[in-house]
Amino acid sequence: MKSTQADVVVIGAGVLGTSCAFHLADAGVQNVVVLDRGTIGGGTTQFAAGQTGHLRSDRISLEFTSYCADFFENFEDKTGHAVDFHQYGSLRIALTEAYVTDLEQRVEAAKSIGQKTHYLSVPEALKLVPSLRLEPTAQILLSPRDGFVEPRSVAVAYAAAAIDHGARILTGTAVEDVLTSGGRVRGVQTSIGVIETERVVLAAGAWTRLLGERFGLNIQVVPVRHQLYVTAPLSCVREDQPIVRITEPQLYARQHMGGLMVGGYGYRPMSFEMEDFPEDFEIPALSADHIYYREMHEAALPFFPDLEKVPIVEQRRGLPTMAPDGQSIASNIEGLDGLIVASACSVGGVHHSPGIGRIVADIVTDRPKWLPADGLSAARFGSEFDNNAHLREACEAVYARMYRDKI
Ligand SMILES: Cc1cc2nc3c(=O)[nH]c(=O)nc-3n(C[C@H](O)[C@H](O)[C@H](O)COP(=O)(O)OP(=O)(O)OC[C@H]3O[C@@H](n4cnc5c(N)ncnc54)[C@H](O)[C@@H]3O)c2cc1C
Repeated sequence: MKSTQADVVVIGAGVLGTSCAFHLADAGVQNVVVLDRGTIGGGTTQFAAGQTGHLRSDRISLEFTSYCADFFENFEDKTGHAVDFHQYGSLRIALTEAYVTDLEQRVEAAKSIGQKTHYLSVPEALKLVPSLRLEPTAQILLSPRDGFVEPRSVAVAYAAAAIDHGARILTGTAVEDVLTSGGRVRGVQTSIGVIETERVVLAAGAWTRLLGERFGLNIQVVPVRHQLYVTAPLSCVREDQPIVRITEPQLYARQHMGGLMVGGYGYRPMSFEMEDFPEDFEIPALSADHIYYREMHEAALPFFPDLEKVPIVEQRRGLPTMAPDGQSIASNIEGLDGLIVASACSVGGVHHSPGIGRIVADIVTDRPKWLPADGLSAARFGSEFDNNAHLREACEAVYARMYRDKI
């Protein structure tokens, strides 16, 4: 190792850690070092559907996600590196009255910050997505700014941009401990030696809680398994079709290599304790929940009947992190100066990565925050979820209602 000192060490080179590194280096922070025990984007990031979706029903979240949407629309201008962003919009489909009200709230919130959305008739929607089947009573909202991106390419592009600004990325380098004294961070113990630093950004994905515990912190975030599958190509799938999100069965589907990529929430939600896995466990070794896949497939069939006749060619799964209220964490940690956590993006870390990176850079550089970030503070739960079983139960419950948040 050339130097044993860094201004900031980022733990984890997933989409969150690399975004933090880019935003820090771009904000003028010198000597940023990113450490990953594996490869860039080699954790949960590589398995994401890579969908972006900015429509929210409260104003702060909407402004946050609008910034993220704008970032993806201008990714190359902002970072100097291109990503393959496909912006064909998304359809949010409500089948029952309660979710129609939810759609209306999203439209109102979008209007309040000048964002365009349109209602579509069922025939209009089916023209855009010929493989879809809907009852005539379905209500459909088109969000033109939504899209999808190859997720690992996003982490790689952030990493390349961070390097352009002077950051260093050390892969194959595990963080074993965070060294502290007098209530503040002093360095990190890694598999290749000690790096002295007074600031650490903890963006270790599924391992965030476990690492926190190792240095005496209770970071209230847990990994929850999320799964999707991809079919062989189907002649009725259009390359430029919008993403489909159907609220009641909590399903999404988008085009991928001519087939359909189908994922869903609420099918046997399961959180994990990383200490129960072997020390050398990596995300690609996560076992499948076949019942989850089957239940999700059966729920999707009425909407995409062609799924019956096409083979599944790929399964993806990983461990995105959840907080008990379903919101992200991007904040200092009380009781340990110099430690900043970037985590709990639910199943939206790729999309949220620009905003989280920006907030982390605000915290480190002490510049004024661009949005009130209290809702992302790690301290917001107090002692309510100190009990581990209660924490896991709450995070699983939030995951299970991902599209049903307002109902
Ligand atoms: C099937 C699926 C579909 C998804 N779809 C979407 C989607 O459509 N849109 C979206 O925005 N999000 C989606 N997500 C969620 C998204 O993948 C995550 O929110 C995001 O990838 C989390 O990134 P991360 O950087 O926090 O974690 P990770 O990508 O897991 O990165 C954490 C890194 O930390 C490293 N690390 C851990 N411990 C240590 C240590 N001790 N020392 C050094 N390094 C360490 C790991 O090696 C890893 O590389 C999906 C997820 C799944 C599983």
